[in-house]
Amino acid sequence: MKTADVVVLGGGLIGLAVAAEAATRGASVLLVGEARVGEASPAGAGMLAPGAESEELPSDAVRRFAIAGRDLYPSFLAALRDETGVAVPFDRSGILELTTDGKPAHCPVGSEWIDARALRELEPGLAEFSGAMMTPNDGSVDNVVLFIAMKRRAEGRRAITLVSAGVRSVNVTAARPRVILEDGDVLEGGSLVIAAGAWAAQLGGLPRPLPVRPVRGQLLMVDGALTNHVIYGGGGYLVPRRFPGESDRFEGTVVGATMEEVGFDNDTTPEGRAQLEGIAHRIAPAARSAPVLSHWAGLRPITPDRLPILGRDPEIPQLLYACGHGRNGILLAPITGEAIGALAVGAPSAYDVSPFAIERFAESR
Ligand SMILES: Cc1cc2nc3c(=O)[nH]c(=O)nc-3n(C[C@H](O)[C@H](O)[C@H](O)COP(=O)(O)OP(=O)(O)OC[C@H]3O[C@@H](n4cnc5c(N)ncnc54)[C@H](O)[C@@H]3O)c2cc1C
Repeated sequence: MKTADVVVLGGGLIGLAVAAEAATRGASVLLVGEARVGEASPAGAGMLAPGAESEELPSDAVRRFAIAGRDLYPSFLAALRDETGVAVPFDRSGILELTTDGKPAHCPVGSEWIDARALRELEPGLAEFSGAMMTPNDGSVDNVVLFIAMKRRAEGRRAITLVSAGVRSVNVTAARPRVILEDGDVLEGGSLVIAAGAWAAQLGGLPRPLPVRPVRGQLLMVDGALTNHVIYGGGGYLVPRRFPGESDRFEGTVVGATMEEVGFDNDTTPEGRAQLEGIAHRIAPAARSAPVLSHWAGLRPITPDRLPILGRDPEIPQLLYACGHGRNGILLAPITGEAIGALAVGAPSAYDVSPFAIERFAESR
């Protein structure tokens, strides 16, 4: 049996962020997980869009949390670079939401209207649109490089022990929670954080059902940066990716995304590809001649209200949840790490996670 102050279950961006924060606060950490087909963290598009998506967020408290999450990124990435030497590509030049019928009657707070002429100057590669709403300070991060850097940081921390293994179940009835691995080995911690992404609901031994399900998303990478900004439009989005190395300079565009209820099936499909090509062609005509470099899928961990589950279990305070981040887990990884990493070591969270409590789901009471 291995023991530590904190056990974190799940090695995606959320588990890595929680583990790093708990270790920074002086705890010993066991971070257990195995790479699985469909894990969301390296598969996502990397948009940081709390402004562009603010209308879809149900309350001011949730909006504040999402914006605070985005605004943590500059300091989070600077600290990550200092520790690992990896500079994660990051863009906060704003997101453009295209319109086809002029200025919308209702605009998200803080957004700015860009008319057709100004839009053509900002984005010469776009098809004909009547304008766009610009949400300043939103943008994107290269989540593939971010994932690599965060894994490198965890490997380099003496306080974190990485356990590469499948987890069968948890046992939270004793004062110190336990994790039972597929091979029968046991991990024990002063607290346990569930950060198991789309698989969270499958864990045996949880005290209540976790309403998290997988929703498949397919994405394409096409050659070349088709736009300067992240673009919403054409029934989807484009995210330019630039990796500015001297010898390994890379420019591509992520095209997203499908939302499919197909359980844990992580295959790509010809229909998905056709849908994504249609989005790219409607937004940027040059996409028709841009080679598709790759086509992949990932499983978003989605809850019924599309908000994450964060915080302590109401009856077992040494059990914490950090799962169900849905379409915004990259955006929310740093802030989830800070909030849940603090709670896991018995410190107060600097951020209010009460809107995300598990108790909001009737079936989980
Ligand atoms: C197509 C797509 C586009 C997206 N775009 C964006 C975006 O633009 N912006 C944004 O903010 N978010 C986006 N997301 C969402 C984001 O990627 C996820 O919310 C986030 O990565 C979830 O992180 P996680 O660590 O909770 O889950 P994951 O990355 O899935 O990690 C969970 C880990 O736990 C491990 N695990 C689970 N159960 C067990 C077990 N029993 N034993 C051992 N290991 C286990 C898994 O193997 C996995 O490694 C997108 C997702 C997809 C799929």
